[in-house]
Amino acid sequence: LAKSVGGNTWRFFAADMAPRASQKAELEGELRSALKRQEFVLYYQPLIDLRSGGVVGAEALLRWRHPRRGILSPDAFLGLAEETGLILPINEWVLREACRQGVVWQETGLGVLRIAVNLSPIQFRRQKVSELVRDVLDSSNLPPASLELELTEGILISHDEQIVTQMELLRSIGVSLSVDDFGTGYSSLNYIRNFPLHRLKIDRSFVKDLANDPRALAIVRTIIDLGHILNLQVLAEGVEEEAQLAMLRAEGCDEVQGYYFSRPVPSESFAEWLTTRGGEGVCGAL
Ligand code: C2E
Ligand code: MG
Ligand code: MG
Ligand code: MG
Repeated sequence: LAKSVGGNTWRFFAADMAPRASQKAELEGELRSALKRQEFVLYYQPLIDLRSGGVVGAEALLRWRHPRRGILSPDAFLGLAEETGLILPINEWVLREACRQGVVWQETGLGVLRIAVNLSPIQFRRQKVSELVRDVLDSSNLPPASLELELTEGILISHDEQIVTQMELLRSIGVSLSVDDFGTGYSSLNYIRNFPLHRLKIDRSFVKDLANDPRALAIVRTIIDLGHILNLQVLAEGVEEEAQLAMLRAEGCDEVQGYYFSRPVPSESFAEWLTTRGGEGVCGAL
């Protein structure tokens, strides 16, 4: 390629590519040492029951406290973590840390919260997830019923027997399983029928347009009905406005999550927020 284009062009590309490649290499190096240096932290976002108005759980969301770049969201490094396989030790840390935190909250009287953890498709391909989860629950003493694992449609559409087996083992352990970002993946309805699921999480792109797009409302209504007919709970993600909340309640949605209640925050802030707001059933906003 260098020969077929002019010298200047080649230099242009070389100059353009080099920093990007080296930036990636640098990020990879930093990602490798981030676990050892304890740079990862979990933020928590409340999960709210629409009927009681109470906080029933928290989703653990990964953050990287980068020494120079500040707090990084998963979008900035998850791709690279999956590409390099580093997601395996990172997500194992996430599971352990989230379960540890769940037990601390139970013991300090904050309540029995369901702790939701996101899993990566890579883990299902390369790890015996059920053995890892069993081990993490044993060593943390978190009751299995307090742990929920969030899977994406990408994991569920693969026709891999191994994945079905892993999910059945997870179910037998007593943890619950939810489908994250529901409606944005491959939308094969077969997997909802065949997998031992507990909950659908409606993607926030549908919730975003709920109040001003009748088609978004139609989709949300359909997902809620489908979930209920199949005996699944339905949670709506990304609730930011009162109007969205009112519509979700009218449609019979079970749970909600979003900036309207709280952004994801560090564990101490979460505990503080929950204490000030009041416990189960007390919800000023509802
Ligand atoms: P997700 O699991 O669908 O998580 C919800 C995302 O929506 C979070 O982004 C959250 O901060 C954001 N969000 C919540 N409420 C609102 C809202 O009202 N409005 C808007 N605009 N956004 C809202 P975040 O924390 O940046 O995480 C992005 C994604 O990264 C997650 O999407 C999840 O797929 C992935 N992720 C996060 N933590 C982990 C982890 O520990 N392991 C793995 N494998 N993936 C993770
Ligand atoms: Mg999630
Ligand atoms: Mg989601
Ligand atoms: Mg997402």
